[in-house]
Amino acid sequence: MSQIISKPALRSLVDSLLRQGRRVIAPVQIRPNLVSYQPVRDSQQVLLEGFVRPLNSIKEIVFPRHEELFQYRVRGRQIDLLPTPMPATEQVVLAARPCDAAALPILDHVFNWDFRDAAYNRRRELTTVVTLACSEHDAHCFCTSVGSAPDDTRGSDALLLDLGDGHLEVRCVSDKGQSLFAGQTAASNRTGSAGPGPEPRADLGRVGSLLEQAFDRTEWPAWTNRCMGCGACAFGCPTCHCFDMVDEGGPTSGSRVRNWDSCQFGHFTLHASGHNPRDVQPQRQRQRIYHKFHVYPKKFGELLCTGCGNCTRNCPVSLGVLPVLEALQSAGV
Ligand code: SF4
Ligand code: SF4
Repeated sequence: MSQIISKPALRSLVDSLLRQGRRVIAPVQIRPNLVSYQPVRDSQQVLLEGFVRPLNSIKEIVFPRHEELFQYRVRGRQIDLLPTPMPATEQVVLAARPCDAAALPILDHVFNWDFRDAAYNRRRELTTVVTLACSEHDAHCFCTSVGSAPDDTRGSDALLLDLGDGHLEVRCVSDKGQSLFAGQTAASNRTGSAGPGPEPRADLGRVGSLLEQAFDRTEWPAWTNRCMGCGACAFGCPTCHCFDMVDEGGPTSGSRVRNWDSCQFGHFTLHASGHNPRDVQPQRQRQRIYHKFHVYPKKFGELLCTGCGNCTRNCPVSLGVLPVLEALQSAGV
């Protein structure tokens, strides 16, 4: 037997969570043709159909764009460090795309590797992720090329599948998912299914071996010169996680904060000496490809990419990783 919930009952659950003080984040139509994951004020804002995927990703739920780490106060020769309170609000991400949820276990590696990031881990503990299986995809989606699928449950606490009659099948895959939907569903003999998913576009096993020998290929500028270094690919990517630390404030008081950064920005690797080891855009693009498809897999055993396609979808010149991977595959070695 399966478990199902009607869409009105799901919206009632959202309103109940909001009344309990939980934060609910879901796809919201913010402009015509523009959907974004946003905290919702009421359940009617939650968008359950009619779009491929939001322009942002759910990484910002656990790894905010801007985050205070601590405050400092200088009194004479004494410097006091005042800890920032740890996150405390329980949050539910509803109707996330599976390619967003799948990024969370990938990010767990880097936030728990040589340093255990307490704020990130606390947010992970406080967050329940409910995914909605994809019924459609666009030309930029390539989840099936990276071992994923439109109904992948990786990183999800529960997966919803649209039954097409105003109901959703609920597949709980963790204790958090069970707890969220306890008493909310009804038994049924119906099961949902996802859309067919995109045809595989890249052979990532082959890309991995091509990258062993591709660092000095002369085609990198031809493949990537049109990149403008705007960073939109990284900011909309569920797995990109570069950040910078800065002190904001004055000489006697202020905050140390962490802000998102991107390896596509020209100043990202600029040394104080003025030397920049990656001083042209093709070198920065090559870095992004190598990090995602060569370095991260070697270090943590998995790709730093879920095939969501946001890097190309959001790119002003339609670049992102997939066109580069396809060019690399076409060129061979
Ligand atoms: S690949 Fe596209 S989105 Fe990324 S930095 Fe270059 S121009 Fe911007
Ligand atoms: S690199 Fe591109 S396709 Fe891969 S997860 Fe990031 S945005 Fe999605």
